Amino acid sequence: MPANTNSSGIVVDLKGHTAIVTGASRGIGRAVALRLAACGATVAGVSRSLAGLEGTLQAIRDAGGEAVGFEGDVAKSEDVRKIVDAVEEKYQKIQILVNNAGITRDGLMLRMDDDAWRDVIETNLSGAFYFCRAAGAVMMRGRYGRIINISSVSGLMGNPGQANYSASKAGLIGFTKTIARELASRGITVNAVAPGFITTDMTDVLPEKIKTEVKERIPVRRLGTPEDIAEAVCFFASPGASYVTGQIIAVDGGMTA
Ligand code: NDP
Repeated sequence: MPANTNSSGIVVDLKGHTAIVTGASRGIGRAVALRLAACGATVAGVSRSLAGLEGTLQAIRDAGGEAVGFEGDVAKSEDVRKIVDAVEEKYQKIQILVNNAGITRDGLMLRMDDDAWRDVIETNLSGAFYFCRAAGAVMMRGRYGRIINISSVSGLMGNPGQANYSASKAGLIGFTKTIARELASRGITVNAVAPGFITTDMTDVLPEKIKTEVKERIPVRRLGTPEDIAEAVCFFASPGASYVTGQIIAVDGGMTA
């Protein structure tokens, strides 16, 4: 199957599109970056370390794609502004933004300290806001855009030990629906993907016992892969998804069915 064809055989042509993908150094962000690049998009990957991004950028270039890396902290609005300005200067337009960078700092609410709350909200929720505000202005000028925010089933259902994380991911859902309404008339769609349990560094740290228990609660009986999420992101990022906005799609093997 050609690289720009999805698993259903549909060709997604993103040639001439520039895509910012935050948290592109590993896990879901890396898979999304590779997928969008395989469809022809030029990828601007973001993470806190350029060295961390190198593997993703090289994999894209090895496959014949174009990619550039930007070091920055999504929780710092000045970093975000600089990155978006640099991408606009280099490529003139930004057609796709994937707000994927995220962290967890789990703990029960009664014992959660202020920093654990703030760090997670600032990275997962404010980071997406900073990027949408900066890149959204560029998209407005181009009268076209595809914004995809990576939420979580924890934001849909709640999850004990993740009050900060669930709040950030539920916040992203309200944020997505609101800015979808604000930007719709300018040809910009805004949607969210809510992954279930996906095998990445974020979930690798969990004990095997928990992973086995989670698997038993997933109707399709397997943990998800970053590529499962990239597939849904690719749909929302495609020009053909122009009539889909303000939607949240759970990619979770049926966990929330
Ligand atoms: P990983 O921990 O594997 O990767 C996180 C990525 O985010 C890395 O590239 C990291 O890069 C980047 N990142 C973290 N903080 C910042 C920051 N402040 N500024 C810039 N980049 C940052 O996570 P996953 O791939 O598992 O998760 C990706 C997204 O999917 C997250 O938003 C997560 O909440 C969400 N998700 C994941 C699920 C899962 O089961 N894995 C389930 C549901 C949602 P670096 O460290 O180099 O800065």
